[in-house]
Amino acid sequence: MNGTRYTLEVQPVLPARLKRLDELANDLLYSWDRQVRGLYYRLDPTLWELCGHNPKVFLRRVSQQRLEQAAADRIFMEDYNRVLSAYDTYHQEPIKSACSELLDEREDLIAYFCAEFGFHESFQIYSGGLGILAGDHCKAASDLGLPFVAVGMLYRQGYFTQTIDGQGNQIAHYTPTHFRDLPIVPAMDRDGREVRVHVNLPERRVLLRVWRAKAGRISLYLLDSDLEENAEADRRITYQLYGGDVNTRMQQEIVLGIGGVRALRAIGLHPTVWHINEGHAAFLILERCRELVAEGLDFDSALEVTAANTVFTTHTPVPAGHDIFNDQIMASYFTEKVKGVGISLEQLLELGSSPTAQGGFNMTALALRGSRFRNGVSRIHGGVASRMAAYVWPQISPEENPVGYITNGVHVPTFLAREWVNLFDMRIGGGWRNELLNESYWAQIDNIPDHSYWSLRQSLKTEMLADVRRRAIFQHRRNGYSEALIERLTDRLRPQSTETLTIGFARRFATYKRATLIFADPARLARLLNDPQRPCILIFAGKAHPHDIPAQNLIKVIHEYSLKPEFQGRIVLLEGYDQALARKLVTGVDVWLNNPEYPLEASGTSGEKAGINGVINLSVTDGWWAEGYNGRNGWAITPHGPAYDAAYRDREEAQELLDILEHQIIPLYYARNGHGYSEGWVGMSKESMKSLIVRFNAQRMVMDYVVRYYSNARRQRLVMAGKDYARAREVAAWRRVVDRAWPRVRLRRIDNPLEEIRSGEALAIRVAAYLDELAPDDVLVECLVGTESESGEFVKQDTLVFTPGARDSQTGETEFRLDLQPRLPGLQYYKIRMLPFHPCLSHRLELGYMIWL
Ligand SMILES: *Cc1c(COP(=O)(O)O)cnc(C)c1O
Repeated sequence: MNGTRYTLEVQPVLPARLKRLDELANDLLYSWDRQVRGLYYRLDPTLWELCGHNPKVFLRRVSQQRLEQAAADRIFMEDYNRVLSAYDTYHQEPIKSACSELLDEREDLIAYFCAEFGFHESFQIYSGGLGILAGDHCKAASDLGLPFVAVGMLYRQGYFTQTIDGQGNQIAHYTPTHFRDLPIVPAMDRDGREVRVHVNLPERRVLLRVWRAKAGRISLYLLDSDLEENAEADRRITYQLYGGDVNTRMQQEIVLGIGGVRALRAIGLHPTVWHINEGHAAFLILERCRELVAEGLDFDSALEVTAANTVFTTHTPVPAGHDIFNDQIMASYFTEKVKGVGISLEQLLELGSSPTAQGGFNMTALALRGSRFRNGVSRIHGGVASRMAAYVWPQISPEENPVGYITNGVHVPTFLAREWVNLFDMRIGGGWRNELLNESYWAQIDNIPDHSYWSLRQSLKTEMLADVRRRAIFQHRRNGYSEALIERLTDRLRPQSTETLTIGFARRFATYKRATLIFADPARLARLLNDPQRPCILIFAGKAHPHDIPAQNLIKVIHEYSLKPEFQGRIVLLEGYDQALARKLVTGVDVWLNNPEYPLEASGTSGEKAGINGVINLSVTDGWWAEGYNGRNGWAITPHGPAYDAAYRDREEAQELLDILEHQIIPLYYARNGHGYSEGWVGMSKESMKSLIVRFNAQRMVMDYVVRYYSNARRQRLVMAGKDYARAREVAAWRRVVDRAWPRVRLRRIDNPLEEIRSGEALAIRVAAYLDELAPDDVLVECLVGTESESGEFVKQDTLVFTPGARDSQTGETEFRLDLQPRLPGLQYYKIRMLPFHPCLSHRLELGYMIWL
């Protein structure tokens, strides 16, 4: 047939009784409330799939007749009303008391900046783990009732959608989104006008529109440069997430950091805590300094004020994850801008300098220097991040510097399978949503009879397999494979294959995640997967960044394996990884595999999603799993670390992986009792849920941010901003004095150190400090008392502070004394050190200076 194909969408009119379906479609709460989504699904399951689970598109296309039927259907209407009443209750709930004790609901506002947000597959402004984490953070903030707004960018083309062709090539598709399909409205200012802000780029001014997405009880504001007033090239700044070249990246980060602050101001919002989630948004520090400088403050004081209530979370030890801009680019974008900030370009470059990026401006360095609360995202990553950031506090050991950690968590209502939700509602009470931090509550999982537990897991698997099979057939048909081949490739995905052990591996394809590690010994793997009594299948999915050729090659390698006769139907590679597929896989497989190169997996979250659903983790103990693994809730692959030769390390870890699979996982899974299930497996799976839900959920994570950072950041702001910024000026001036004096400061011991005393006696320690311009109050002299570890390291047990005494007018030295009364018996050690001290610092070692004796 020839001729033009015109499009026509016949849009229904919502019956009056169903009017609020529209309201529900315009609240991202649907992304974490399965009851809400269930309403659309039940109206028309097929259309719901076709619309990519997008409620707004769905409501435009659903048939009038279907709506009328539903409006007349008593059962549907009962459910509809129940969902609405739960929705209204959610919106009226007060802030959780644990938060209201630490934040002032009326005064405080947390502004959370991130380059991507992954709420739901219908809203494609995320690329991977970082975005999903940011979405989960917002969802938990809404659940807790925090005073909270998020700021990001509205990408018209979003991140790419992925297909994999018949040769295993990743094809990236960029499809523009129609903004009317998204749950967004133009943000308004106090006078009811649409908000417009601008940012200055070289020789031009770019206008930005601001969109507001309602996400439960919080708002997400999204910046958009696609306005007629802008030049064509500038309209494209916010087209793609992580697209374009280094100029695009710079422009996007100016839009996000600088435009984002201006957007909040224009809307009339005044955050009291600013959270920079990964370095992309770090320019917000400069914009806030500019505002203060315009009020008349000097730059140093402005930076004290700004940093005092800024939280910075760094997410990756991989160098490519940190933006570096060279001097020419910095000069072209910032020569004009720095004038408003009251510093020279050189001073700005200094703020972004780091030893790892010689001659480049490192956004992470700016974020570290412009914040007073910094963290990595797991215990191991916190350690790595403090070592990477050590240059900011040159005389402080990384163990002691201000970089801490808060381990990532996942939003349980989003990632917990519907079947679990129903079961918890039924068996242990619907209150489970309020018990996410209560360990004893989740111990009740043990009360679920093993056979029902097993069959629920099996039914989740059936559902997942059906989805995977449908996707695989679609993909293979499009690629022109013969039906016979497709039959072989999808044979094991039939619902009756639910007995097959299924292993999942899905995440961004990045080389450090080593997606092909398990193929280190292909013959052995083939033997394991093809055991006729105890078969296994492996399902892979994930996107590689379009510029990352080595990662795309991994996709190709897996594709080629999946076609080899011994792996056909045993290795399944799916295209189009997104949050919908992620939810299916992390709820439906038996084992979740993760084998990153230690210590490059900052946290990892997909394993947490799997674990809370009773899927058992098999993972390298890196990131979150080093904290989550307890010996009973999964399997651990021992990491080797960067000191080992890469080939040796990979071989060893692959062998351990295959050993665990062959000798532990497969036998346990297939150890069936008389009722057809494996008791050992159920035990481990229950242990996984019980031990992981409480510790790795997003509410715990956000509460940690509230307790450790947000509440302190808001307090520091009050300290610094009070009395016309008097404290900030004082600290900035004091810092200048310390910077000047410290190179001349000296410390020496003036007593005769005794090496033995008797129990009950004190050791009188005397030291003399030359303090130059500093007063005795400007420093602390400390004595650290400790023991020796097995490996010969000093382990601090106590910290004692010296008292300043007289100043010797001849030498100019001040005496400091301590009468040490050891708490410990026997052999012990002590060290003496001096550091600059000011009571208003957010961290006592913030200045980075330290002298040891
Ligand atoms: C959870 C999630 C990720 C992160 O997975 P990791 O294994 O932690 O890297 C990436 N993409 C999607 C769609 C996810 O849901």
